Amino acid sequence: MNQKKLSKKAFVNVKKLRYRAGSLLVELSKNRPDSIGFVLGIIISKDIFTTKRDSDENIKNPKLKYADWGVFGLGYKSGTSCIISTFRLRNVKTDLFISRVQKISVHEIEHNLGLDHCETEKCTMQDAIETISTVDYKGYKLCEKCYQKI
Ligand SMILES: [Zn+2]
Ligand SMILES: [Zn+2]
Repeated sequence: MNQKKLSKKAFVNVKKLRYRAGSLLVELSKNRPDSIGFVLGIIISKDIFTTKRDSDENIKNPKLKYADWGVFGLGYKSGTSCIISTFRLRNVKTDLFISRVQKISVHEIEHNLGLDHCETEKCTMQDAIETISTVDYKGYKLCEKCYQKI
């Protein structure tokens, strides 16, 4: 075969339209009526992303990967709003889809309630560690330690 190398100009690496989750949280909080403590936003079929940072607030390495990192949901600790997206939860049976939506929603709301990630197996505050299988594995409830905190 006669193979030729293509010039770099022959490729375009375009990421699909995504929404910055942090900006959506600001909008949700801004529009939150005083009578409501927390707002959960559910984005249907559109991807959301955040910038992953290390403990020094620098973009986590590799920077290209973590500058706009797609997420299942986002909720800041002690915030008044959180958000989830169905984009990365699709293409599965309805039961599994619903359980993912429930677990991720509960997780983000619990961040708003002041909880950090937890290492206890099956606790809803377990970090997804960048994979949906962690979400599928964990339970619907907080562990005893987390439960005592709220
Ligand atoms: Zn989390
Ligand atoms: Zn826990």
